[in-house]
Amino acid sequence: MENILTKELAWFYRIVHVKEDDDSVELLVDESKFKEDLSIELEIIFGKRVILKKVGSSEVERELTQRFRSSRGKGTEEKKNEVQSDLLSEVIEEAISLKSSDIHFEIYEDYTRVRYRLDGVLIQKRRIEKELYLEFVNIIKIKSNLDITEKRLPQDGRTKLEGYDIRVSVIPTQFGEKIVMRVLGKSTDSLDLNMLGFDKDELKRYLEAVQKSNGIVLISGPTGSGKTTTLYATLKMLNSVEKNIMTIEDPIEYVLDGVNQMQLNEDIGLTFSNALRSFLRQDPDIIMLGEIRDKETSSMAIRASLTGHLVLSTIHTNSALGTISRLVEMGISPFLLSETINVTLAQRLVRKLCDCKSKVAFNRNHFPSTYNLSCETGSYFKEVGCKKCHYTGFSGRRAIYEIVIVDRELAIEISKETNDFNKILKKRNIKTLADKAFDLVMKGETTPSEVYPILINAI
Ligand SMILES: [Zn+2]
Repeated sequence: MENILTKELAWFYRIVHVKEDDDSVELLVDESKFKEDLSIELEIIFGKRVILKKVGSSEVERELTQRFRSSRGKGTEEKKNEVQSDLLSEVIEEAISLKSSDIHFEIYEDYTRVRYRLDGVLIQKRRIEKELYLEFVNIIKIKSNLDITEKRLPQDGRTKLEGYDIRVSVIPTQFGEKIVMRVLGKSTDSLDLNMLGFDKDELKRYLEAVQKSNGIVLISGPTGSGKTTTLYATLKMLNSVEKNIMTIEDPIEYVLDGVNQMQLNEDIGLTFSNALRSFLRQDPDIIMLGEIRDKETSSMAIRASLTGHLVLSTIHTNSALGTISRLVEMGISPFLLSETINVTLAQRLVRKLCDCKSKVAFNRNHFPSTYNLSCETGSYFKEVGCKKCHYTGFSGRRAIYEIVIVDRELAIEISKETNDFNKILKKRNIKTLADKAFDLVMKGETTPSEVYPILINAI
């Protein structure tokens, strides 16, 4: 039963099959790769006792090259692996052509499926034969430098496929391993501030705030709110030969030519605050911090801003002014915030209706009872579904923004530790995320159910 030892496995462990009976298998192993628990790992794979004979690296290499070359084109195992690799390439290409951000491979009792995340929701596109799936998982793990014998614990890895950086996460589930791949290093062509969803006037104010030579720009929102895209589009716009831009990110989602991007690595102590400390000795103009999570990072961001740098970052809060309260809670003085923050932005992504939409009459019950509607008549649309929108009823997404420019007057209010932010927004005629979401429904761009979570959180 030599065929359990595939080309990938043989090269991965640098082992050569010698002979085998019902109880045991004898293998040559590269002495430089030999480790104590290797036979335990291999026993899991072969399901029987493993006898290892150590030999030199060159001998193993010669044997492997010969064996797998001579069987090229006829070895069924090798062919199967090629088919699997082709299938993987096909899936990646399909995901990228659909502009999908994540690919899910899942195994259940009777089937395995492949789903893609499109515009924030998952759609199922394929099934993989269950017998092929185990081998498929091994190929992904080998390509991502993961331990193929570890099937009981979650593992994280990275790989490059079809020219894209891909983050790989494997977790054990009831019927086998589930894999999620996140496509990184996507095309930067779509990173255009004009296309994200800003109103004309909002964009003008935002641009004024981010083009200052110093200060802090904060974008808030939950995971999947598109805040990273806004950050990258902003950096792309600011990027020029006269400026030194440095970033610390987790993960690096887009690669921007001319920007010095660094990957966060907390395991070796490369945290946001440590990176920021080093950046300040690298003569930066603009610094992008993936996220502000604690007092240390926020204090350093403030210091960087006070010493003449522009700092862009994200923070997990629900509203633009909520960001200010969060920083105050972290222990930052309102005075310093008022001196440094240029603009605070909150955002959400909303799916846009496809042209196949159909009209419905206004119904109070379509909206949360707690939300104070500004209008209760007329009509809007609901989703239908057609081939073009993969039967989801939606096509593409746009961001909605709540944008608060921190000028002197607001800075004074903030420094007085005002807590009634709602009053500030009203007084300044700033539209909240909920107002924006409701407007989009009434314009027929999206549905009440799509914005329900935004409305229910309205202050
Ligand atoms: Zn449609």
